Amino acid sequence: MMFSFNSIQAYHQGLLLNDYTCTDAVKHYLQKIEEEKVLNAFTSVYGAEALQKAVELDEKRNSGQPLKKLHGVVIAIKDVLCYRDHPVTAASRILQGFTSLYNATAIQRLLDEDAILIGHCNCDEFAMGSTNENSYYGKVLNALDHNRVPGGSSGGSAVAVQAGLCMASLGSDTGGSVRQPADFCGIIGLKPAYGRISRYGLLAYASSFDSIGVFSNTVEDAAALLEVMSGPDDYDSTCLSEKPLSYGPVRQTGKKYRIAYFSAALDHPSLDGEIRDSILNLIDRLKQDGHTVSETPFHLLDHVVPAYYVLTTAEASSNLSRYDGIRFGYRSEAPVTDLTDFYKQTRSEGFGKEVQRRIMLGTFVLSAGYYDAYFSKAQQVRRMLVDQVNLIFSEFDAILLPVSPTTALPFDHDDADPTSMYLADIYTVFANLTGLPGLSAPLFKHSNGMPFGVQIMTAKTDELTLLQLSGLLIDQYRTSRPKTEYEAN
Ligand code: GLN
Repeated sequence: MMFSFNSIQAYHQGLLLNDYTCTDAVKHYLQKIEEEKVLNAFTSVYGAEALQKAVELDEKRNSGQPLKKLHGVVIAIKDVLCYRDHPVTAASRILQGFTSLYNATAIQRLLDEDAILIGHCNCDEFAMGSTNENSYYGKVLNALDHNRVPGGSSGGSAVAVQAGLCMASLGSDTGGSVRQPADFCGIIGLKPAYGRISRYGLLAYASSFDSIGVFSNTVEDAAALLEVMSGPDDYDSTCLSEKPLSYGPVRQTGKKYRIAYFSAALDHPSLDGEIRDSILNLIDRLKQDGHTVSETPFHLLDHVVPAYYVLTTAEASSNLSRYDGIRFGYRSEAPVTDLTDFYKQTRSEGFGKEVQRRIMLGTFVLSAGYYDAYFSKAQQVRRMLVDQVNLIFSEFDAILLPVSPTTALPFDHDDADPTSMYLADIYTVFANLTGLPGLSAPLFKHSNGMPFGVQIMTAKTDELTLLQLSGLLIDQYRTSRPKTEYEAN
């Protein structure tokens, strides 16, 4: 039986018409995962279990029960999300052999709506990176060009959707890790507002930045997952207190938007010329169609990456101190003299180079002599950004930005200096420093053959406008780009 997927809504219609079953869908994805093994998108695949769940759902549907919101929707999750009785590794050796004791709230809510979780996806170790090359389980390949990175840190989750290995997937976004790989892979990447989805059961990188996000092929599918996962949670006091919104209908006709953009961002020397020209052209077309698109001064651009790396490494150095070789996963077998020596051995063997670098940097910026020079300064930058954003949203509905200065890099990119990689986060960390929701919408194709898009950000609790405006951009302003697996079907 030939199974193909376009959207959750169309999938549910097909199920009700008996065109196929959930079992057909799961078998299709398991076969695709097997065929595309070279991409290395998964760290674990839960095949037998997913099939079992599909059979149960098929019986449930056949007995006449109404479909729940995510009935039989096949979802892959980043390997930083706890799924009870399943391994969770953060793509790190230090969690080798560790099994989750409980479900993350986001995962529990997906399961409660009858989603099928097909596996855990590869990523950069502890979500630190932009290329998915910092994984203990090896690099992930971009399905459109195997010589290029998929982006990171949620590279496996992005490729799982790009290559048609699941219907939608979850990533985490601390500084762009959903929006940037979505951009590199030509799919939708949604980072909701900070606190929209509970972080309970998400392995922490930088707690005041971390957001769970969604990869999908349509804004409606992203909206459907967001709606299910969002809402207050007694296990996460930083969760927004509002009840979950209904995000449909995402398509809005006729609305004219007020959109801000920053010249400082489009004129930045790191930005690829073709990406800049495409975005300027988009701005012209939006204006012609009656939207207000205005240049807004923004003087803090060069401070966002330093502020992000000072604050996130500080938080990471504290969050990752729990991996001591005693409570979780990996434990060094080397002979040791005392407890401190044991911690050192375990953490040196268990953490990769990038994670160690960030723990040390974070420890340094928090140390007594340097706290005011680095941590306090970065906090001040964060405060100024929030103030500036509030001013912008008193006049505008949305901010338009690039997602990344380049398209997906080739694997032989220069990585001698880690800070050059950090600087490529220039357009994405802004949303995490300010807690704003952001979405990368795939719109364009570069002359090098790779896709890229634009990033939309909206006011703190306004994911609805975010989804509506993104839907409009994708419907009306998308130029040719490589088809994803789903669309090619
Ligand atoms: N590339 C950024 C970093 O390395 C973003 C990571 C993320 O969002 N998890 O920190």
